[in-house]
Amino acid sequence: MCSETSLSHKVASLTADVVIVGAGPAGCSAAWDLADNGFRVLLLDRTAFPRKKTCAGGLTVKAVRALRYSIAPVIQRSVCSLSVSCRMRHPKLLKSNAAICHMVERSVFDDFCLKKTVTAGPRFAVVKRIEKIVENDRSVSLDTDGGMIRARFLIGADGVHSRVRRLTGRFARFRPGFAVEGIVDLAPPDDLNVGFDFSRVAGGYGWVFPKAEHINVGLYTLRSDVKITRQDLVDYSVRRIGRPLPTLITGSPLGMGGWRYRPGRGRVMLVGDAAGLVDPLLGEGLYHAIISGQKAASAILNAMNNGRDACETYAKGLMPIQRDLLFALAASNAFYRLPGMGHLLLISPPARIALMNGFSQGMPLLDIFRHGYRFWFGLPVPAR
Ligand SMILES: Cc1cc2nc3c(=O)[nH]c(=O)nc-3n(C[C@H](O)[C@H](O)[C@H](O)COP(=O)(O)OP(=O)(O)OC[C@H]3O[C@@H](n4cnc5c(N)ncnc54)[C@H](O)[C@@H]3O)c2cc1C
Repeated sequence: MCSETSLSHKVASLTADVVIVGAGPAGCSAAWDLADNGFRVLLLDRTAFPRKKTCAGGLTVKAVRALRYSIAPVIQRSVCSLSVSCRMRHPKLLKSNAAICHMVERSVFDDFCLKKTVTAGPRFAVVKRIEKIVENDRSVSLDTDGGMIRARFLIGADGVHSRVRRLTGRFARFRPGFAVEGIVDLAPPDDLNVGFDFSRVAGGYGWVFPKAEHINVGLYTLRSDVKITRQDLVDYSVRRIGRPLPTLITGSPLGMGGWRYRPGRGRVMLVGDAAGLVDPLLGEGLYHAIISGQKAASAILNAMNNGRDACETYAKGLMPIQRDLLFALAASNAFYRLPGMGHLLLISPPARIALMNGFSQGMPLLDIFRHGYRFWFGLPVPAR
């Protein structure tokens, strides 16, 4: 485990090329790429690692591929099949020859990624509070409880409640989804598959994720007007798994609305949940967190080398992500309006062949929608 003293540096009046607020997957991905290109990076978090993070820890193949290093040591289970049902009825097992998803424990995964990232060069420091952010033509300064920090660029990777977003007013049309998860303290039986049940929650689903030593259960909705209670989760868990009851129940919003995020111009960029980049159909946020961090890093690299505005370059880099998000939004509007129909479509042979092959090959949803028929006909699938 990574102790704070071994990683953190005192902040008091620091300068850096880039300061990144938030050392989760988005922040670490940006920090890795920037440090790898020789930048002086200061990575801040409000807590020492390892720390608890409410998340089911399902990493898709595309997310694992996007990372710059192997995470094999922290993968608890690789998943080749999943069960989908509607109102707990008509469960169907969708199978793949290769893994479609990998299970991690978020606190362990995040700690691992931070340790890896720090070996690439960034300094890590804990700051409890950021009071003020001032941006001018040449730099950005942060007034923190640990002192003043000045950098040429600032990346806000501080998650769904992003302080950077609020202090800079960079993205007003942010909108949260919500999910509740719990831990069932039971070694998963061999026949328990990763499972999704639609219609359990309006605008979302219930999940069951078997891990190494326990089962993660949860309920997700993309709708901000739908309330999910602890009791809803307990009821779902009992119906789905039985006893023991789930413990360590926590809920958290998910960052959404990023299809409308416009970085503008200047020196401040938002990435990951801070920029609302969670996919509304599946509630998947890790992939976009990782690649948005990398795209922000690449935009800064471009700005330093070619003098282009980093935010404008970042806006271009975000376009494919935003297209995927808009597609996921349209798909979720259709799917969750008539989940019974959606479920029937999902389990139909053409759809399930496209999905399982597409997931195992690390394709984004929009690409699966466009090219998935090729799996059905045995045709080659173009790379994005
Ligand atoms: C219940 C639940 C289940 C989920 N399951 C999945 C899943 O299975 N698969 C998936 O892909 N996605 C899942 N998600 C979404 C996923 O967790 C997020 O999309 C992902 O964590 C976003 O990464 P991030 O780096 O942007 O933010 P985070 O992981 O939230 O990291 C933000 C970091 O910023 C730090 N921070 C916050 N505020 C400050 C501050 N003021 N100053 C300094 N540091 C600060 C935090 O301590 C944290 O370390 C789930 C979400 C929830 C709520």
